[in-house]
Amino acid sequence: MRKGNLLANLAKRGYDQGEVRSWRQRQHDAGRPSTLKDFLAAHQLCTACDSTGEKIVGCWWRDTRGVKHTQKLQERGGSEEDADQTSSDDVGPGGPDDGEKVTEMFDRFLKNAVEWGYLTELCDVCGGTGQTPP
Ligand SMILES: [Zn+2]
Repeated sequence: MRKGNLLANLAKRGYDQGEVRSWRQRQHDAGRPSTLKDFLAAHQLCTACDSTGEKIVGCWWRDTRGVKHTQKLQERGGSEEDADQTSSDDVGPGGPDDGEKVTEMFDRFLKNAVEWGYLTELCDVCGGTGQTPP
């Protein structure tokens, strides 16, 4: 779901969409790995954060009364018994994948929000540079 952001981010780094596409086509034709992640890895870009330098750790939103809420995504590998305690704003949502969880949060909270955005943290793999650490 962050594919659009990833392409926009690659453009900022000087790789336009056509270039990415032709690289992937060449890789594919040669029978080599050709996903966007492979592109990142081949160009020394951080695959943990899609070279954005930050990761999405949750969402914030403002409800119709103007009250601001924040909801953090739960880290992968959280215990199963937390999974059904997600009715309160203070408890992290469950789920196996962060993309899915943002979608779940959207369904539960954000579609009625008047304003919302992602909570982000610096990527701990690349330290925010978006590039593969040396
Ligand atoms: Zn990173």
